[in-house]
Amino acid sequence: MIDQTTRLRDVLGEKTAIMLADALGLETAGDLLAHLPRRYEERGELTDLANLTVGEVVTVQAQVVSAERRPMRERRRSMLTVTVTDGRHSLLVVFFNQVRQTRDLRSGVTALFAGKVEEFRGRRQLTNPEVQLLDAEIADAQGCDGAEGFAGGLVPIYPSAMKIPSWTIAKCVRMVLSDLTEIEDPLPAAIRSEHRLVGLLDAYSLVHQPSSWADVTRGRARLKWDEALILQVALAQRRFDNEQTAATARHARPDGLLAAFDATVPFALTAGQRTVGETIATEIARPFPMHRLLQGEVGSGKTVVALRAMLTAVDAGGQAVLLAPTETLAAQHLRSLRDLLGPLGRAGELDAAPGATRIALVTGSLGLRARREALAAVADGSAGLVVGTHALLEESVTFRDLALVVVDEQHRFGVEQRDVLRSRSDRPPHLLVMTATPIPRTVAMTVFGDLEVSTLTELPAGRSPIATFVVPAANEVWTDRMWGRIRDEVAAGHQAYVVCPRIGEDPADPADPDPADPDPDATADGATEGGRRPSAAVLDVLPALRDVELAGLRVAALHGRLHPEDKDRVMTRFAAGDIDVLVATTVIEVGVDVPNATVMVVADADRFGISQLHQLRGRVGRGSAPGWCLLYTDAEPGSPAWERLAAVAATSDGAQLARLDLAQRREGDVLGAAQSGGRRALRLLELLKDEDLILSARDAATALVRADPELSAHPGLAAALAATLDETTAAYLEKG
Ligand code: ADP
Ligand code: MG
Repeated sequence: MIDQTTRLRDVLGEKTAIMLADALGLETAGDLLAHLPRRYEERGELTDLANLTVGEVVTVQAQVVSAERRPMRERRRSMLTVTVTDGRHSLLVVFFNQVRQTRDLRSGVTALFAGKVEEFRGRRQLTNPEVQLLDAEIADAQGCDGAEGFAGGLVPIYPSAMKIPSWTIAKCVRMVLSDLTEIEDPLPAAIRSEHRLVGLLDAYSLVHQPSSWADVTRGRARLKWDEALILQVALAQRRFDNEQTAATARHARPDGLLAAFDATVPFALTAGQRTVGETIATEIARPFPMHRLLQGEVGSGKTVVALRAMLTAVDAGGQAVLLAPTETLAAQHLRSLRDLLGPLGRAGELDAAPGATRIALVTGSLGLRARREALAAVADGSAGLVVGTHALLEESVTFRDLALVVVDEQHRFGVEQRDVLRSRSDRPPHLLVMTATPIPRTVAMTVFGDLEVSTLTELPAGRSPIATFVVPAANEVWTDRMWGRIRDEVAAGHQAYVVCPRIGEDPADPADPDPADPDPDATADGATEGGRRPSAAVLDVLPALRDVELAGLRVAALHGRLHPEDKDRVMTRFAAGDIDVLVATTVIEVGVDVPNATVMVVADADRFGISQLHQLRGRVGRGSAPGWCLLYTDAEPGSPAWERLAAVAATSDGAQLARLDLAQRREGDVLGAAQSGGRRALRLLELLKDEDLILSARDAATALVRADPELSAHPGLAAALAATLDETTAAYLEKG
């Protein structure tokens, strides 16, 4: 009798077990069953040989066209050259000294071949691959083993390794499945019956030994549920734990700073800003920490929402901090909070309003004296509002009473920093995380699953549309017109951005991404890669722009290698209209807010991701004049790179672009690096396609955890959860 914890050696023998463990990391019967087929070959349906990639280990089903045995110079050695076909394309299969293959591989025979694709004299070939005959009679007649396993019509193809071909794995799975009498099912029976899911053992039989595609679908549907539920239970437990943590309730006051601010703010809040504001007010008035993600396009008015929450915190006697990913942005936030608050934020200054508070800026580059003053104001509570970079958390900054932390841009803020915050006081502050990166709902629910999500879907009235065009670099007329557009806008009193993927002039690092890039992953291919020319760099294009294309305009550079003070000076001058054109890296991606900027040229636009381009163009059209975004590229029209840019040009719907972005990237990339090592937590689940399933699983998980936080009534689920939460996965959840 075996169950899923049985060691493979006890079922398959020492030798096979060692191979499986070494090559694929499979130790137990349960591990092997969870090693799912990557795809299926229909029996008799030949594999398309046109798509084989050199260097990959493949399993292909093909038919022998011809086989020719040639003796080699050295005596007693021979070479067998077999040409196989999928009906249209052919592949060379070469064997050295393989007597049995010479006998088996006659013209007309169909077989599976497994090996590494090589290139030899311009043709792709397999050398000494493993072979599995598929014609049962031939296989039987020759005493070959294994053909019976494929009787079902669908041949499972497993992720395999050189030494262990797919069919050997299939055979091992067969042995395990036929011996397995018992398997602990993690899915509670009620969920199984409600969603009409088969039992776990049945699901494994269906996916490993299907007799039809319907079997595969049924089996996979059930296994997807396991993945979704386990993940969502883990996240529900985190949310539940959070609810058990004590925090100070911060109640709004009808006569405080918030009321004064609302009375002076020169515009009407959008419906979304109002609703989210109410949600936040409710949540920070509860005795456990708020954990909320506020999502909204650039310009949707998140900062105003954050400021209102911060004022509530101050009204309740606490302090609030706003964290920015870079010093430039921190400085910018300081400016915009000061502008928005006016006299309400100028306590201690001559024109302060009654009841006003103070805003302190704390960054790593403050002078000693300014720093001491700022820290004192934070410590004694006279600064109700604090703006800074993450340095604010890492250093010994003392708050009188920290009530609320607002983080601008989630991806720079990990749970480690959240823990630093928690350790700051005996009661953790409330947390609001803001992101302008549009995230599909299901991604938010898995990646940021322990945060509740609010979304601002509308832009404030009066926003101008942005017209986006793809400009082919090869077309001189268009290129001239593009620079002409910048000159025209500047002549009309507006300003412009030119964005480049790199800073340039850094011999030390050819990749040279901007160290201050808020999203370094997204520009990872900004460098010389695969023989492409290096992408445009700020410092390289600057002289030519100054002297030629934009001669006579006031052009300045902004990038992460500038000294923070210089960066700040450039931003201030740009904001004041003393600079016409800012040539910059993606440091401007988040938060830079100059309504007078109306045109943006993105150089080598194809080196940026879809969502990032969408973010970037949010920097123009923030005022009342229409904005232009020109995506400059040498990608060929019709190429995938061009099509991506065309998609960005075709829609301004950030949510749609986020889905497109996700569809084009591997989900592992989206989920973060933790997914790539070790076993993936998500094997079958697709965040976009399985949206309904994920939503159902989240509801089910929330209900389960509420009723039974420790899962004591569901030992199977608890065990599966513990197994899944190995270090890798835990690390990835932590990222949220
Ligand atoms: P985000 O942080 O989401 O990019 P901001 O909060 O910086 O957006 O808002 C962008 C600009 O729109 C700011 O100048 C802000 O003052 C202005 N704004 C915010 N809310 C409104 C509103 N309801 N009506 C008009 N303008 C608004
Ligand atoms: Mg902002």
